[in-house]
Amino acid sequence: MSDLEGLYQDVILDHCKRPRNFRAIEGAEQTQGYNPLCGDKVTIYVKMDGDRIGDIGFEGSGCAISTASASILTETLKGKTRGEAEALFDVFHGLVTGKAPGNGKSKLGKLAVFSGVSEFPARVKCATLAWHTLMSALSGSQEVATTEGADGEDLAAR
Ligand code: ZN
Repeated sequence: MSDLEGLYQDVILDHCKRPRNFRAIEGAEQTQGYNPLCGDKVTIYVKMDGDRIGDIGFEGSGCAISTASASILTETLKGKTRGEAEALFDVFHGLVTGKAPGNGKSKLGKLAVFSGVSEFPARVKCATLAWHTLMSALSGSQEVATTEGADGEDLAAR
C-alpha cells in the first residue's frame, strides 16, 4: 500500500473514517454497484425532488478510495439536478483517468482531491464506482452497476 500513500490525503482519510450520508433512505431508489477488481461494494440511495437530488445516501464496504469517493459524492451532489450530476461526472471522470485533468476542475470542489488517482490506473474504478452506480440509479436501471467494462480503455491507454 506504500505506493498509494500519496493518494491518502487528509480529506480522503477523513471521509473514509467518517463517511458522510452513510445511511439507507426509506422510500428511495436504490442501486447496487460492484467493483470486482478491488472487491468494493456500494449501494446508493437517491430520492429525487422533481429534477433535483432531494436526498442521497450510501452503504457498502470497500477500500478507502471507494468509500471516500462515495461519501464526497453524496455531499457534493445533494440538491444538484440530474444534468448537473452528469456534467460533474464527466469532469470527475476526466480528472481521475487523466484524460482531461484541467477540464472544469474548478467545478469539482472537494472532488479534486482524487486527482492523484490518475497515477494509479487500478484505482480509477474504485474512485468511479459510486458514480457509475449513481448514474445507473438516475437512469432508472434495476441492474447491479459494475465497473467491469466501464472505464475500459483506461488501462489499455497506458
Ligand atoms: Zn477499491
